[in-house]
Amino acid sequence: MNFQYRSGELFCENVAAGGLAEKCGTPLYVYSKNGLLAAFHEIRGAFSEAAPIVAFSVKSCSNLAVLSLLRSAGAGFDIVSGGELHRVVTAGGDSRKTVFSGVGKSDEEIRRALETDILLFNIESEAELDSIQAIAAAMGKVAPVAIRINPDIDAKTHTKTTTGKKENKFGIDFVSASRIVRNIAEQPNIRILGIAMHLGSPIYSVEPYAQALDKASDFIREHRSPRAQFEYLDVGGGFGILYRDQTVPTFKEYADVISPRIRGTGCKLIIEPGRSITGNNAVLLTRVLYTKDNGTKHFTIVDAGMNDLIRPAMYDAYHFCWPARSERTPPSYLFRSPDAKDYFSRETPGTTGIHERGVDADGFRLTNVVGPICESSDCFAGNRRLPIMERGALLAVFSTGAYGFSMASCYNSRPRPAEVMVDGSEYREIRRRETIEQLTDGENLF
Ligand SMILES: *Cc1c(COP(=O)(O)O)cnc(C)c1O
Repeated sequence: MNFQYRSGELFCENVAAGGLAEKCGTPLYVYSKNGLLAAFHEIRGAFSEAAPIVAFSVKSCSNLAVLSLLRSAGAGFDIVSGGELHRVVTAGGDSRKTVFSGVGKSDEEIRRALETDILLFNIESEAELDSIQAIAAAMGKVAPVAIRINPDIDAKTHTKTTTGKKENKFGIDFVSASRIVRNIAEQPNIRILGIAMHLGSPIYSVEPYAQALDKASDFIREHRSPRAQFEYLDVGGGFGILYRDQTVPTFKEYADVISPRIRGTGCKLIIEPGRSITGNNAVLLTRVLYTKDNGTKHFTIVDAGMNDLIRPAMYDAYHFCWPARSERTPPSYLFRSPDAKDYFSRETPGTTGIHERGVDADGFRLTNVVGPICESSDCFAGNRRLPIMERGALLAVFSTGAYGFSMASCYNSRPRPAEVMVDGSEYREIRRRETIEQLTDGENLF
């Protein structure tokens, strides 16, 4: 229980959210160190039979303190850019447990990764393979690669986050992959070390993994050769988390589908979890600036915007929101409480006879939590039934550890927020709030 209400007040571990907001300002990302560790150990434990390399997806949450924490717990890393490689190296990460994914690796990024001796490149096209061959030859190196397969599986997730369908830009189809393996003799500076895939995110069912792995296993069986031994099979990430009352497979349930199929291939397993480690281990704290009612709708205007957390605007993502201090016991869905389902069914207006607008008998109000950005999509919660909040109230946006700060921008020339990490009764600012002056760093008049 890393985020919980005690006597109506939100705590991260043993530190009150209200105190953190006062000391560090808002908007503020607050991470639970022990929650992150617990999630990492839970996933590794569930897959223990396969003894995988757990390559944490850096893009989901890339703060150095998070990377360094997971590294010390034994994590490897999945990177998608030279910038992320720099982060891994700076955090003391093990390059021999680092895999490099992404459809558009630049020559410079490939060179740096070869210098750093990463475990392997997940290649996403034949053209990329040619580039890696040329760069490795010039450096007198042999580049280890895994072929990222596009298994053409529907992972049934948001269209913007599905990656394993034929129409997506990711991966290589089986026919082209087969050609790569057959012609590998023409690429003397390449060593084919494995097969990789990543189907999308979040995936709330184990079935897509089973289907994709069955296809990949067939491919490995048919194509294994002295030049392509397929030591590794990388199933990617995408494991779902609880944002509200979804049914989420446990790590064990994912593992029960994945591990036996890996055993059949004789490969070593790599997994690339991001969201499932960080997602539920941070909240975004934001303060109410104003409230207003335009006669049709009520708005709660907060000091965080879509530049701080873009998931609702970009993916129509649902984030549970609740005041950090509230007389109302929140339906603690994060703790898998039995009343969560009941709450979420009542939350939508018009289903229980609550007034469509205004304050209902229980002291709740139907409101729209919006940010200061000049975009109508800058809305964290539309038509939510929340305890009444006035100016100065502190609101927690839950499950924001993954694709929260890592997707933050300075849009509307807003400095990016601070991040703090809590460990028991202690906390540390792991990223200073950006300053107004930093916003114009590097710009020149002309
Ligand atoms: C984004 C990404 C992941 C992580 O996905 P999560 O849903 O955060 O677990 C893993 N592998 C690749 C290649 C990715 O692009």
